[in-house]
This record gives sequence, C-alpha cells and structure tokens, in this order.
Amino acid sequence: MKGYIHSIETLGALDGPGLRVVIFFQGCPMRCKYCQNPDTWHMKDGTSTDIKTLFKKIENYRPYFGAKGGVTISGGEPFMQAEFLLNLLKELKKRKIKTAVDTCGHYLSPSVKECLEYTDLIILDIKQATDAKHKKLTEKSLSNVLKFLNYCCSQKKKLWIRQVIIPGINDTRKDIEKLVSLVKNCKSVRKIELLPFHSMGEWKWKKLGRRYPMKGKKEPTPERIRKLQSIIPRI
Ligand code: SF4
Repeated sequence: MKGYIHSIETLGALDGPGLRVVIFFQGCPMRCKYCQNPDTWHMKDGTSTDIKTLFKKIENYRPYFGAKGGVTISGGEPFMQAEFLLNLLKELKKRKIKTAVDTCGHYLSPSVKECLEYTDLIILDIKQATDAKHKKLTEKSLSNVLKFLNYCCSQKKKLWIRQVIIPGINDTRKDIEKLVSLVKNCKSVRKIELLPFHSMGEWKWKKLGRRYPMKGKKEPTPERIRKLQSIIPRI
C-alpha cells in the first residue's frame, strides 16, 4: 500500500515529547489563511511512498528517540490518508516506537478511530474557538473538530491542544477563555499551547501563484503570547 508524503523532518523537537522524526503527509481539507504549507493541500503534489521506504529513514534515527521521542505524523492532514496511516502506526507500535499525530481534527471515520488506538499522543490544532471564526479562517466548520475532540476525550486519549495566535483575529482574553472553555472538561488534555503566527510560508503561496491572505499581518510579540498563555489555567 502506498501513501502520499510531502516531506520528512528528522530530529524535530517541537512536535511531541523528546526528539522525533516528523513525517508530513500530503492532502488537507482545510484552507487556513495562514497556512505555512499550502503545497500540502493536494494529494497529487505529494511523493508516492510505501511503509518499507519510510522505515529505512525512521530506523536511522531510532537511537536518538530515547525514552520520550518517536515519530510524529503531521501534514497536511494525516487522517485524510487514514488507511495508509493505520498501517504505518501499526508498524510503529509493533517496533515499540512512540507515536503522535498532529491533526486539525476534521475527520472521524471508523478508520480514524482505529488509528487512534495506535496513537500515543494527539496534537489537536483548534484553529479558532468559535464556528464563525473557524469557518472564516479555514473554510471548514468547527463542529467536526469538536466531535473529534469529544471522541478523543471519551477514549481518554492523551491530547495537546494548540492554537496559532493571530493579532486582530484571536488575541484577546475572550478568545483564549473561549478556547479553554471548549477543552476544560476533557481530562486527558495535558497541555494547551499558544503559538505565534508568522508569515514564513508566504513565499510558498507566491510560488503556487496564490494571493497570500495574511499579507502585511504583524507577528504577535513574545510578551503578548506569554500574557495570553498566562490566562490558561495550569493543567
Ligand atoms: S490544517 Fe494545516 S496544512 Fe491544512 S490548511 Fe490548515 S495550516 Fe495548512
């Protein structure tokens, strides 16, 4: 079985605990206005790869994983290729490698539910905390994301919640309190992390001949992010 891959990053330290190999899957249902990887959106633009080829790379970096590290599947949206992802996750668990999936939470098919059984950590990017804002930023409803979140909670799946903070869009106390209210009843949430918006992906939009919707948007200051992060209660 083959899947479509965008790229592989080795020894990433941001997408899950410890040092990790991060595999970026191709294909995404959302169209986030700040997307850093618009070149992942269409499946046809990816590289067709099989599990055996992926493991040749993964095994090279295994000595660096230590007790906490492992493999994170990101994207694009990994669950868009749920069957291929399931095979990969099963193989990783067979080899006793820790697994994380970084997702926008749009899908919850039976195959996605099966994938979750082989996933140690879900990194759920809740793009915006209200349906209207979510639709405006991503072109997709928040309701699927909340269904995904609730399912993960019911299964006691370990979750990290992330949100990118964009000045003038979701950088007020009210925005953060709304985000907290969405996840506060979920006992398996281990972390809520606010990430600063940045425009480093702008050149990719240009290269694809697309107008960059966030043109000229300023990045939030580290102080602003710290202040907003301090609103979030300790978990
Ligand atoms: S979910 Fe991720 S890959 Fe998809 S459009 Fe949004 S930022 Fe880009």
